[in-house]
Amino acid sequence: MCGIVGYIGKQKALPIILSGLERLEYRGYDSFGFCVFNSKPLLYKEVGKISLAKALAKIKSDGLIGIGHTRWATTGEVTKENAHPHSGCKEEIFVVHNGIIENYKQLKEKLIKEGHKFKSETDTEVIVHLIEKYFKDNLEKAVTRALKDIRGTYGLAVISVKDPDKIVAARLSSPLIIGVSEDEFLIASDPSAIITTTRQIIILEDNEVAVIKKDGLTILKEEKELKKEPEMIEWDIEQAEKGGYKHFMLKEIMEEPNVIEDAIRGRFILEEGNVKLGGLESVEKKLREINNIFLIGCGTAHYACKIGEYMFEEYADILSQSDFGSEFRYRKPIVDKKTASIFISQSGETADTLGCLKEMKEKGAMCLGITNVVGSSQSRETNAGVYTRSGPEIAVASTKAFIGQLTILAMITVYLGRQRNMSLTEGKEIVSALKKLPLMAKEILIQAEEIKKIAKKYNKYKDFFFIGRKYNYPIALEGALKLKEISYVHAEGVAGGELKHGPLALIDKNCPTIAICPTDAVYEKMISNIEEIKARKGPVIAIASKGNEEIKKIADEIIYIPKTLEILTPILSVIPLHLFAYYFADSLGCDVDKPKNLAKSVTVE
Ligand code: GLU
Repeated sequence: MCGIVGYIGKQKALPIILSGLERLEYRGYDSFGFCVFNSKPLLYKEVGKISLAKALAKIKSDGLIGIGHTRWATTGEVTKENAHPHSGCKEEIFVVHNGIIENYKQLKEKLIKEGHKFKSETDTEVIVHLIEKYFKDNLEKAVTRALKDIRGTYGLAVISVKDPDKIVAARLSSPLIIGVSEDEFLIASDPSAIITTTRQIIILEDNEVAVIKKDGLTILKEEKELKKEPEMIEWDIEQAEKGGYKHFMLKEIMEEPNVIEDAIRGRFILEEGNVKLGGLESVEKKLREINNIFLIGCGTAHYACKIGEYMFEEYADILSQSDFGSEFRYRKPIVDKKTASIFISQSGETADTLGCLKEMKEKGAMCLGITNVVGSSQSRETNAGVYTRSGPEIAVASTKAFIGQLTILAMITVYLGRQRNMSLTEGKEIVSALKKLPLMAKEILIQAEEIKKIAKKYNKYKDFFFIGRKYNYPIALEGALKLKEISYVHAEGVAGGELKHGPLALIDKNCPTIAICPTDAVYEKMISNIEEIKARKGPVIAIASKGNEEIKKIADEIIYIPKTLEILTPILSVIPLHLFAYYFADSLGCDVDKPKNLAKSVTVE
């Protein structure tokens, strides 16, 4: 999720590592640390933001090799102990890691039985103990062996005083690049950390292991050597931070398939048609008793709540209600021993949502949370919860975090459903469909250019409707919110069936409608709603299921999404709407990442 920097060469490693870490600051991490070698290793960790001047004044090291890390916690609270680098039982091997280890609990148990002593709550620490276990005299051999035991994602860098003249780096699904200069090398998870030193880079690919020494570099794949030539990156710092995309928002939309993947990683028990959510284990028994759930969130998170309401009702047979944080805190919810509440907030710091949490705690309801930020106020105040693991979201308008929230809600639905009436077959069906979503999301993103064209074609219009029904009604609300947030154009989300009760009066040739109409239980109804619009000459952009030819007869534009289970369609149907809003706003020259009048995390009432 967050940053790695490493250095080996002729210069002092510490200032280079620290300035690299500082350049990763834009991502908003929670703690940092580094390890540099002199005669003995110097390990330093701190919670909070890095102050280069302060750190350099306090710590002196002539070491020519080192690794550093900025943490964005996924497993284990934000504490000094959990900050990276991590070391084994003996302070001889040091690891920084970016990613998530799925099977860390099993590995940790086994290693503890074998006598290993753990110092942190992180998943990362198992990596270093494994390397320690397999280490004889060669670091890359121990790393390669340890990686065989690991399931999950990693970008990692390892150093050891026992094999001191090298950095070993490895990657699987988490980015890692090597900066090449004369007699020196850098490694980083993000080019912005190194491009002031060198623009010559080698991109490490999945399953490759790099052995980096000051006078040369070897890249291994399945223990065989690979030849790789460095390439030049032309990006400036700003472009590098955005991964080459024009805006953070576009980068974050493009990360949506990975967000689904990270949210589900290691959390399925396919053969039981169920999910394993570590964060809910402590309340497992109590959750069986629950018969009433309130889902509370603000803005985009509120629309996730609304979809959760539909999911829980249909698949877990639980009476569910969603509301805005700002409204709910002044209502009088009826709470008893069988009431639970779920609070959803990307940052976990949304004041209105936290206000409701306080109220519900006071009333004795079970309080659960879904948030992206480990150690946030919400995660500390709730009884239990699930992290979305969506990675830092920087653009003010939330996109990938919403995808993460929906994915978690679908998993909680399976969990609650399986505690009640959901059959094994149905559980299996949802879990298998969830597994296929990341690829399907990618399929939608491939159409980005088409969506861009449509957005540009419609950018003269000043009013839009978004319509959907059932699971896609909240998606209509989210599509409209996204468009108005970043392009300042008037957009309204309406339940398809409600058009005729009022909003239809506004439909004419100057008011396009985006109709979310995948082939699901309400498809025919949506077609009738589209016909109502067409009869009034309203242009229609349809979000339809792949293979639907019939829709061509009534819609002016069509964006296809792959077919999945109805309950999961919102996770896909919102992706083209995120892209549409982005390209629309960008074509109008709007400041997409920082829309006027808005802030990322709303910490005031
Ligand atoms: N999963 C690791 C942790 O929670 C790595 C997080 C990161 O990539 O910053 O410590």
